[in-house]
Amino acid sequence: MGSLPWYKEGLRFKCTGCGKCCTGGPGIVWITEAEMEKIAAYLKISLSAFKRTYIRHIDNRFALIERKTPDGEYDCIFLKDKKCMVYQDRPLQCRTFPWWQQNLNSEESWKLAAEECEGINEEAPLISCSEIQATLQKTNQSESSSN
Ligand code: SF4
Ligand code: SF4
Repeated sequence: MGSLPWYKEGLRFKCTGCGKCCTGGPGIVWITEAEMEKIAAYLKISLSAFKRTYIRHIDNRFALIERKTPDGEYDCIFLKDKKCMVYQDRPLQCRTFPWWQQNLNSEESWKLAAEECEGINEEAPLISCSEIQATLQKTNQSESSSN
């Protein structure tokens, strides 16, 4: 292991469920076959119906469809009334937010993430460095293995 990261004392975060990370500018939520099967089962539809309704193909991978709102935002297809319709089965990418490499690169990146996510604030519980790194590892693994 190299030297300790800049967030060695941990970082403060608790999701408020505001739904802001599920909308905004265009983005990509990747999803695996296993994750699609899980959500399809929850929605009580077949996998092929699920793919037809909720999935787009980007670079030979599966991603959730986004819907452009009248005010020019891009909502995830599962966002309804600012809540995730499939929260308990949401893809790993959603579950691991904000512990993504791009948000953890530097203190500056973390501050930028905080501008978008109200759950990153001084009153939120402290998440330890080791917990953050464990989640980050999961995110990185899924990045390199999902196809
Ligand atoms: S923006 Fe942050 S606080 Fe809001 S739903 Fe997303 S993770 Fe939770
Ligand atoms: S699947 Fe749910 S948590 Fe993930 S972006 Fe869509 S609405 Fe948000």
